[in-house]
Amino acid sequence: MTYANRMKIKTDKDCDLSLIRGQPVAILGYGNQGRAQALNLRDSGVSDIIVGSRGGTPAAARAGEDGFEVLSFAEAVKGAGVVMVLLPDEVQASVYKEIIAPNIKDGTALGFAHGFSIHFKEVIPADTLDVFLAAPKGPGRALRDLYTQGLGMPCVIGVAQDTSGNANALALSYAAALGAGRAGILESSFREECETDLFSEQAILCGGLPALVKAGYEILVEAGYAPEVAYIECLHEVKQIADLMWKGGLDFKNQAISNTAEFGGYQAGDRLVDDHVRAEMRAILLDIQSGKFAKTFSEDRDQGFKTLKSRRAGDASHEIEKSGEKVRATMPWLMKNES
Ligand code: NAD
Ligand code: MG
Ligand code: MG
Repeated sequence: MTYANRMKIKTDKDCDLSLIRGQPVAILGYGNQGRAQALNLRDSGVSDIIVGSRGGTPAAARAGEDGFEVLSFAEAVKGAGVVMVLLPDEVQASVYKEIIAPNIKDGTALGFAHGFSIHFKEVIPADTLDVFLAAPKGPGRALRDLYTQGLGMPCVIGVAQDTSGNANALALSYAAALGAGRAGILESSFREECETDLFSEQAILCGGLPALVKAGYEILVEAGYAPEVAYIECLHEVKQIADLMWKGGLDFKNQAISNTAEFGGYQAGDRLVDDHVRAEMRAILLDIQSGKFAKTFSEDRDQGFKTLKSRRAGDASHEIEKSGEKVRATMPWLMKNES
């Protein structure tokens, strides 16, 4: 493997905040990303923000409480120079077709926080629009918390359509208003962001890691160890290791753990991530690249997310959750439902 220096990571000095400050911005959806992005934009001096919402939802009420003007999706889109689509990926195609397309003005910039809908052609935007990506690399809550601490979350940007000739500069400006210019903005593409994001969440973050945690817990409990101890060992401690890697990489992590942990870790890591696992990881990537994963996901959506809901219920009723509740009860700073 070789390290190819492919890009210059951009920061605040490369971005012109006045571009986004000068635009009326419609934020469609006020969930994980919508709320964090709207608040960060406002604190970065973007004064004309409208939150688009279905109305009557808790999200709409929250946007009102936060001091934003809330309009229907259609009204929000009509007046906007920038329309940011912060709806769940699986509803973006229908909302674009039914509500955005009939109401959006020519020359508007249409933005996304993940490459999925554009890359897999679920949304085919009118050719009169600029289409940009500003994908913060982490949950909305963290995006907001970092911003309020004067820090920022890295962001991957891209451009799919550039009718104005200004789409990349606008994406940089938007990302800077999210606070990403304090951390790093990576000029990438819808394809690269989409495929790498899906791969990392499937193979590592939301697939591999939770599966290892569950299996590890089950094996310890089966072998007669206390569930509370198994929970601490297999789940609770993930954060400490993740934080060390996040902060300083592998060598920094190795310096903070015992030689025993490091030595055993190499041996076990080699046993676990063997040729079979690598082959499966490559197959997962191929399914993402070929569109097979996107098709399976859309099929489940069309069946009311039967599979997704049943798997989610399985996690919620897993025994590790009961152990977790008990262990976390003495640590009130770990809030149960915070995302
Ligand atoms: P979300 O699940 O929090 O939902 C966003 C909003 O959409 C909510 O206000 C909800 O009320 C509304 N909504 C839900 N269903 C709807 C429907 N059928 N019609 C209209 N509105 C509906 O979404 P999210 O997790 O913020 O994800 C938004 C986008 O950001 C996605 O493209 C996602 O991939 C991307 N993203 C999310 C995160 C994250 O923090 N979860 C991180 C990076 C990128
Ligand atoms: Mg990701
Ligand atoms: Mg993702």
